[in-house]
Amino acid sequence: MELNTADKPRILVIDDDEQVRRVLLDLLQDLYNCREVSSAEAGLTVLAQESFDLVISDINMGGMSGLELVPHVHSLSPDSVVLMISGQSNIETAIEAMHAGVFDYIMKPFDIRHVEAAVERALKQSRLLVEKRRYKDELENLLQERTVQIDRLAHYDTLTSLPNRTLFEDRLTQAVALAQRANSRVAVLFIALDQLKKVNDTLGHLAGDQLMQQVAARLRGCVTESYTVARFGGDQFVLMLPGIERTKDAVDVIASIQEALNPSFKLDRQELFATASVGVSFFPDDGEETSSLVKNAGAALYRAKKSGGNEYRFYTADMHTKASKRFELETSLRRAIDNQEFLLHYQPRVAIDSLQIVGLEALVRWQHPQMGLVPPGDFIPLAEETGLILPIGEWVLREACRQNREWQDKGFARMRIGVNISARQFQQQHLSETVIRILEEAELGSEFLELELTESSIMSHPEATIDVLTKLQTKGVAISVDDFGTGFSSLSYLKRLPIDSLKVDQSFVRELATDPDDAALVMAIVSLGHTLRLRVVAEGVETQEQLRFLRLLRCDEIQGYLISRPLPVTGIEQLLALPMPLSPEAVHV
Ligand code: C2E
Ligand code: MG
Ligand code: MG
Repeated sequence: MELNTADKPRILVIDDDEQVRRVLLDLLQDLYNCREVSSAEAGLTVLAQESFDLVISDINMGGMSGLELVPHVHSLSPDSVVLMISGQSNIETAIEAMHAGVFDYIMKPFDIRHVEAAVERALKQSRLLVEKRRYKDELENLLQERTVQIDRLAHYDTLTSLPNRTLFEDRLTQAVALAQRANSRVAVLFIALDQLKKVNDTLGHLAGDQLMQQVAARLRGCVTESYTVARFGGDQFVLMLPGIERTKDAVDVIASIQEALNPSFKLDRQELFATASVGVSFFPDDGEETSSLVKNAGAALYRAKKSGGNEYRFYTADMHTKASKRFELETSLRRAIDNQEFLLHYQPRVAIDSLQIVGLEALVRWQHPQMGLVPPGDFIPLAEETGLILPIGEWVLREACRQNREWQDKGFARMRIGVNISARQFQQQHLSETVIRILEEAELGSEFLELELTESSIMSHPEATIDVLTKLQTKGVAISVDDFGTGFSSLSYLKRLPIDSLKVDQSFVRELATDPDDAALVMAIVSLGHTLRLRVVAEGVETQEQLRFLRLLRCDEIQGYLISRPLPVTGIEQLLALPMPLSPEAVHV
């Protein structure tokens, strides 16, 4: 195939001997695109304007020698290959030339085949050089692109394209250094979206991601360039406001954030509203270091969230002690599980007329090595928040069943044991299977177990609850609704729930004898319970008068200090050994 002139390899022949140039051109110009010049200087002029794949040059010419020419060729045209023409007599010079970077040499007088072969080899080398350079360039470009990508990944959040924690902290460190010199303040706003968890749980993570992207865009839209908005992951954003003069300026920014979040968010299949809680810390007031400023804004955020969301809080020093106390408690709670620091107390539940014990409620206590006996109100909420309620709750269930079986084996009257189950336990996939397995392990009949669920935990997931409770009830486990009257039950659900009893919350029993409203409420609960064929139990009965009222109102069972406080195992054994029925005066401990 005939090559186009433009496609042919380009060769520059440099020799002061016209004869030599002629011979070479005759030999090469059919195949290659050739040019000739008669001196090294002329060669350099041409090379400065055009590029050649191959330069064939004589060594000794008047003026610049071929040897001196080589480095110039390479610097002007790095991919060019140089062939040297050398006479037999100066072969040493030719070798020296090769050291200087010449690719090969051809000897005079020319042997045609030798010349052709040398030219071909040299051109091949030139192609290799070109390829190598291209490859190297590509590799360098790729590397540069990747470096940019990695840099992005390391400094930006992939979901929202906002700066991430690392970049934010870098910028905050710079801003703090500047503020230190300028004697100015920097505000750090820690922002959390109140609804993300709910959106993720109900609409799925894709919807949650969409919401976060839209929130990010609105946050970015409501602050100026000099303020950095970053995402810290999860539902959290941070905002840095350098050069803030007055606290009120931070409040204004918060107001504009809240306003920006006001309009509804349109997700694929849903339109919804979102709000944010904000915690604020200031340099230098609340910390000198990046980490403490962020931590303290976080502590303030926690308080803002605690007060119900859509609120902001400024950091105050005592937050920290609260936060660290909480952290300490959490750590020791985790340790308590391994160290088996929990124990159960039991409180009897008696029939209202006969005062015969009909059941016992297991109530957990924590035997803390330093703090002593900790009541459940001081650690169950934290255990629920952290998920530690799952192992604790399972232990309570297992221990209560084991103990009940032991009492039966010892010949005490057989009775039901009530175990409190928290909402979090209830959202577990296999709660019914776990309960049934524990009953089997303890070799306890299912009719001797009752689960107590608070009204609010049932009502937070009513449909799922009905399924699990039905499964348990068919197995023979009794169910009661605890703290009834505080959780806004829907009557239609209540009717469908497979429950056995309602436990009227202590708050209604407390004022029963003195507050006519409470008496009316308890009466309503009793008649509601009886209509649904449920037993009604009054909790927290402390006085004879309350007992009298509850009898009047046809309550079925009572529990309370009037009969007995929650007691450890030995106390319960003494109580069970007393002749039945109990008289309140006889057993009041
Ligand atoms: P609860 O299930 O409603 O238990 C009744 C609470 O009222 C118990 O408090 C009991 O000691 C107390 N009480 C009983 N009679 C009287 C009385 O006459 N007067 C007054 N003022 N109080 C009385 P405790 O043991 O401190 O437990 C508090 C709550 O902690 C329980 O309320 C229950 O919701 C929760 N809890 C206890 N043990 C567990 C457990 O093992 N798991 C879960 N998830 N929660 C538990
Ligand atoms: Mg209870
Ligand atoms: Mg209760």
